[in-house]
Amino acid sequence: MSQFFDNQYFKTKRYQTATPLDTNTVLVSQELVHSIDLPNIYKTLIHNMRRVAKTNRTVKETKENRKPRIEYCGYSINGNTNNPVQMCSNPKGGLFFNGIANCGGYWRCPVCALKISENKKELLAGLITEHQNRNLSIGFLTLTVRHSRLDRLKRTLDKITKNYRKFQTGRFFAKTDNGLIGQVKTLEITYSEMNGWHPHLHLLFFYNHNDVKAIEKFQKDFISRWFKYADNNGTLSAQNQKIVTSDISDYLAKYDITSEMTKGQIKSSKGLTPFTCLAKIAVGDYEDYQEKRKLYGIYAEYVEYTQGKHFVNISNSIRNEYKEFLQDKEKTDDEIVNEVTIDEVLLKISIPVWKKIAMHDLQPLVLNKWKENGLDAVYNLLTYYKAFKDIEIEYINDVPLIT
Ligand SMILES: [Zn+2]
Repeated sequence: MSQFFDNQYFKTKRYQTATPLDTNTVLVSQELVHSIDLPNIYKTLIHNMRRVAKTNRTVKETKENRKPRIEYCGYSINGNTNNPVQMCSNPKGGLFFNGIANCGGYWRCPVCALKISENKKELLAGLITEHQNRNLSIGFLTLTVRHSRLDRLKRTLDKITKNYRKFQTGRFFAKTDNGLIGQVKTLEITYSEMNGWHPHLHLLFFYNHNDVKAIEKFQKDFISRWFKYADNNGTLSAQNQKIVTSDISDYLAKYDITSEMTKGQIKSSKGLTPFTCLAKIAVGDYEDYQEKRKLYGIYAEYVEYTQGKHFVNISNSIRNEYKEFLQDKEKTDDEIVNEVTIDEVLLKISIPVWKKIAMHDLQPLVLNKWKENGLDAVYNLLTYYKAFKDIEIEYINDVPLIT
């Protein structure tokens, strides 16, 4: 077991101020990282990342003076209700607040992105297994286009999206003897200091046979046509193809968009992602104002050009083929983030108290404190602040209510 994420990894300016309250710096194992129930310290980190993300508006939103949904995410009460906010546990033992707005912004909100990517990962794992159970093969391809450090994201993103759309209508792809049933297309966008924006496509090709040699030949042909296609101007080595084996973990790791944060690799040599930029800002891991502005700029550009884009796209032919399997499993991003499974309601918080909790950004700490030592710890946390000096606790059907 090793310590993946701790203050020692960062020069923390801002985070240190919160540390005395959040005393349980956890030692995290890989297993924990892969569970949706994040270890305490990540909960605080991801919350703080969202807080940074909230300050950003797209050009369109600024023009229309419109608040993006992320501004409400994790803070505002859902609907027009005076009912207290519920702190609940899910069947896996994780804690969450029920009755609070979620924005569902995959490309912009780290909290919602985590839920959405986790859900897609499970969905695709199921779909791959269904197909493999029929003794049919699946290929995995990564496609890129050439870009330079100075290219804006809009340019490279448009290029890869448009070119792939056109490429699919071409003769080579449309030929029916390639055994392709359909595909699942995933868009991933990373950024690096050296090469700038790097949008790329991950494709899962579902075949109607399991002739591995034929598939390899087709896929090699596919990528060698792709890198020369239109103005792609790519290199063969930047494309990738393989056949998905029964061990799908490698592939599924692509959906762990937050793994680079939750594994403490914010300082990874692999460079930045828009979300690690948020993380660096949230923990104060930057040299000066200039660097902070640059990090924020990367995140802002990413948000600007990803609005309305799909993260995962399942082709209609796959939808038809696996109609029954997908029926109750494929959900919209909104459905995913708003889906709750309540095992137990542990605590209720009146609306006025909730508003103070949100104002002081104590949401993750309340959850962490409850885990640590239940109501006592939550009470101690809140009354540490002046604003909560007069809170009271009553019991309704054995469930504590803070008013
Ligand atoms: Zn959100």
